[in-house]
Amino acid sequence: MLYQAPLAPKYSTMTEEDLRRQILARKSQLGRRLVILGHHYQQDEVLEFADFTGDSFKLSQLASQQKDAEFVVFCGVHFMAESADILTSDRVQVILPDLTAGCSMADMAGIDQVEDAWDHLTRTTDAVIVPITYVNSSAAVKAFVGGHDGACCTSSNAPQVLRWALGGEESGAPNVRRKVLFLPDQHLGRNTAFGLGWPLDCMAVYDPKLPNGGLTDEQIRSAVFFLWKGHCSVHQLFTARQVDEIRSIDPDYRVIVHPECDWSLVQKADLAGSTEFIIRTIENAPAGSKWAVGTEVHLVHRLAKRFEGVKSVRLLAGIQCLCTTMYRIDMKHLLWTLDELAAGRIVNRIHVDPETKTLARIALDRMLSLTGDGAAKTASTPRAIAACVD
Ligand code: SF4
Repeated sequence: MLYQAPLAPKYSTMTEEDLRRQILARKSQLGRRLVILGHHYQQDEVLEFADFTGDSFKLSQLASQQKDAEFVVFCGVHFMAESADILTSDRVQVILPDLTAGCSMADMAGIDQVEDAWDHLTRTTDAVIVPITYVNSSAAVKAFVGGHDGACCTSSNAPQVLRWALGGEESGAPNVRRKVLFLPDQHLGRNTAFGLGWPLDCMAVYDPKLPNGGLTDEQIRSAVFFLWKGHCSVHQLFTARQVDEIRSIDPDYRVIVHPECDWSLVQKADLAGSTEFIIRTIENAPAGSKWAVGTEVHLVHRLAKRFEGVKSVRLLAGIQCLCTTMYRIDMKHLLWTLDELAAGRIVNRIHVDPETKTLARIALDRMLSLTGDGAAKTASTPRAIAACVD
């Protein structure tokens, strides 16, 4: 985790109203030189200052479109700010208001571990392995993937990216010669591949903490997907049991979850998809409908408030499922960042070195060229019927 210098004491003594007033004043002072991007999981007090809001995919698209701004202040986590720096021109400086806002999932795939895994897998099978990394990964991992003819994906387009990686090879097709190393979220990889019709026995979990990833040579030769043993500490708090509990309380609740959740939960849920998919589905749902949602608490509470009295929206779990690192971006850090910019000082700049940037951009550009609708599971999602063949 990066070090964040403590803020001057004056920020701690300001009231919420003072903070709000001064952030607005700084925004208007910096004008078009400044763009603030805010992720959906961000707290409301911060999100109200965002010029654009979205999930990782939408924010990556928005970052790539910023031509006039000099500063992009990213109210999200570290890997998102890195992606913004990779996708924006060199004259744009990307700033993360608190450097300790990281992502535990991204930290589960270190570049050295990925390089070791790659050496081992490519030595053991002569099939083509295509590396795919969820955008929730470091710039170094993205660069590795871009340098090995792979692509990034988000939960909005993971099915399209997996189809691309497999070169059109479908589940059950004989003589599959392409395999996928999916980083760093095993759940998104499993849910997506299964949603495309691939059976679970085509998938092997690669554990970077075990010798040879914990896999035998035979398992490596027969698997089509190597799922990196990583997960989101927020989405793993949702369980299949919670679906039973909510349905026993009120069977009218429909359950919608993010594909970073465990496979057994996704199977029980009515629908699964990206953050934008979840928002769109609830927006388009009829009045009176009831939704139990398996994703970060700030987004769920925002939806509940927005549709209060019209639709019922609640968190699937009975406990708070909070992205604690995203939560570190608060009004105080945002104001401090803007104060420094107004004084001509750039703080907390996220800068990816040019070599890493060039390779990572290949992976990100592929991701941006493959758009999807964010659905990981719908009523018409095919069920796997074929056995894994190699
Ligand atoms: S919600 Fe999970 S995957 Fe997203 S930033 Fe937080 S820890 Fe990372």
